[in-house]
Amino acid sequence: MPERAATVVGGGIGGLAAAIALHRRGWRVEVLERAPEFTEIGAGISLWPNALRALDVLGLADAVRALGAVEATGGVRDRRGRWLSRTDNDELARRFGHPLVVLHRADLLRVLTEALPADILRSGSEVSTVRDDGHALVVEHAGGESRPDLVVGADGLRSAVRGVLWPDADGPRYAGYSAWRMVTEPLSEPPSEGAATWGRGERFGYTALPGGRMYCFATASLPEGTAADPTATGPTAFDPKATSSSEHAELLRRFGSWPDPVPALLASVPEDAVLRHDLYDLPPLPSFVHGRVALLGDAAHAMTPNLGQGACQALEDAVTLAHCLDGTTDVSAALRSYDLLRRPRTQLITRRSARLGAVGQLAWPPAVLLRDTAARLMPARATLRSMTPVLGWTPPADRVTG
Ligand code: FAD
Repeated sequence: MPERAATVVGGGIGGLAAAIALHRRGWRVEVLERAPEFTEIGAGISLWPNALRALDVLGLADAVRALGAVEATGGVRDRRGRWLSRTDNDELARRFGHPLVVLHRADLLRVLTEALPADILRSGSEVSTVRDDGHALVVEHAGGESRPDLVVGADGLRSAVRGVLWPDADGPRYAGYSAWRMVTEPLSEPPSEGAATWGRGERFGYTALPGGRMYCFATASLPEGTAADPTATGPTAFDPKATSSSEHAELLRRFGSWPDPVPALLASVPEDAVLRHDLYDLPPLPSFVHGRVALLGDAAHAMTPNLGQGACQALEDAVTLAHCLDGTTDVSAALRSYDLLRRPRTQLITRRSARLGAVGQLAWPPAVLLRDTAARLMPARATLRSMTPVLGWTPPADRVTG
């Protein structure tokens, strides 16, 4: 088969994974990233068994696991710190082949970038438009123009590729709550297990990272736009350090009296290390593909982080896309298969994540009581079983056919 060329727009987790999957199957790939370097923000990320299975296909699961922490147990607590439900990670691994692994995002990005030749990673290359007139596929970017056989739009929540080729698609939809993320300094005695504590319209979670650090996250129901805008310019321009320290003060005000170990964790977070983002998901697209252009990851199906599945799904997308393109010269037909395999699943998980978020953010006391009671009564085995449709995914190449 003649060498084929792919342009991947966006060098986040999804774009890099797609580039690796295509490169390993003989495609000539370039990754166009608008940021000046390929890196990720200072927070943790949880990778569930389905993501590790996708990373297995890329030959990277062991490298990622070696950089991550695997906690024995974790679960959900109520506002007074009492357990509502618990998950046993060994049981998870027995059932789904891998445990839940949590690592620093920068470490994951490093594993992904190191799996690619450095000269195909083009930072500072913002893509302005993509044209597909059925004959020629043209990508215009800061470094000039590319004419590949395939374009992968992996440019995130506010995808430019989606904006150009899906002009009628609805934009991101605010979830109704904002999130904070942070990593503590190394602790001499980190908590022995992770937990998410559910309050009234607020949640606070923490989970171990390697080296005694903890990755913490919190949410609060708030009007859209109360998070500082990192794109602001002028006299009141965004100052990440100043903003982060005021966010730290806000976290202390909201969560400083929550059950242990929350106050101690907050005390060990550097003031300038707090990230804050409003949370969005994407209304369902009628298709993830347009001719020889495929959307992937958040560009296709941004979801709220309640199931910790956004990046996991981007990794699934990447290996499925490469699988569909294998052994065929008909890129458009292969992308239609990709769409059929990925769209129903990711849109279902997006909805499920939104529903879980709505439950987690409940604030009316009787509803909170009902929620907490239902969570307490749900057997651990039933919780795990309910996760099977999400975590039990197998890569298409592994499927038994015929
Ligand atoms: P992105 O990471 O957004 O990458 C897109 C890239 O494209 C960026 O590098 C951007 O600079 C670049 N780009 C944008 N526009 C252009 C352009 N015009 N030209 C060139 N480049 C461009 N997921 C999990 O699986 N587990 C978790 O625990 C988890 N926790 C989360 C917690 C929070 C609070 C949030 C908000 C999300 C969380 N997610 C989690 C979701 C996960 O972060 C995303 O789903 C994932 O990062 C999406 O990757 P992506 O590559 O599709 O998009």
